[in-house]
Amino acid sequence: MSRKIIAIASGGLDSTTMVYDLLNRGHEVDVVSFNYGQRHSKELNYIQATTDKLGLDWDLVDLRDLTPLLAVGGSSLVSDTPVPEGHYAEDNMTATIVPNRNMMMLSFAGGIAVARGAQSVATAVHAGDHYIYPDCRPHFMQLVAATLQTGNEGVNAFDAETIVVPYINSTKTDIAMRALELGVPLDETWSCYKGGEIHCGKCGTCVERLEAIHDAVCALNPGADLDQIEWPDKTQYEDSTYWTQVVL
Ligand SMILES: [Zn+2]
Repeated sequence: MSRKIIAIASGGLDSTTMVYDLLNRGHEVDVVSFNYGQRHSKELNYIQATTDKLGLDWDLVDLRDLTPLLAVGGSSLVSDTPVPEGHYAEDNMTATIVPNRNMMMLSFAGGIAVARGAQSVATAVHAGDHYIYPDCRPHFMQLVAATLQTGNEGVNAFDAETIVVPYINSTKTDIAMRALELGVPLDETWSCYKGGEIHCGKCGTCVERLEAIHDAVCALNPGADLDQIEWPDKTQYEDSTYWTQVVL
């Protein structure tokens, strides 16, 4: 059944794929993005371009006044701490915590959903986020859904799936596979933590992205000689092989 959904999207691979996915499933999608003082806002330019291209409503919520209040132990999103390179393991991920981030984003998107008579809010959290981020776990999503319904009783159009989390049990590779199946232009998404001209290929999110896309291509082309297939990722990377030293 077609529903109206407010999708939280950053311009990264996961959330951009989710927008394409929701549209593919026949839903009406409005997109909302948040500026919470990321090191750079480059990915926001990407989601703006994507929503322009797809003809979707896009709104940017500016939360930068909160940035100085949310600095936890030198979080790399809100300080000058160098961006960690290498695999996106837990040690690196602890440096990227913004406290209560999903609660805030879901709360604002939930308010927009009530105002627009939408049935759901959607977020692209995935299974790999669970380990370090408690606010990416299924139990948290259930509690927020109940809170949104209770707090907006009588005025909301939420249905049983108040928070749509299509990738909550998916790996990054699963999402990359879905992106390839849907024909999402990967070079129109931005993952790099460094806000350079092109993806660096070496930071945690670049390594994670390159690994996931590689594994997805392998999974979708079993037994194929990877040198013989047209590589689906047209993204430019400063270093497109560093990730293999870290991961393989
Ligand atoms: Zn990078």
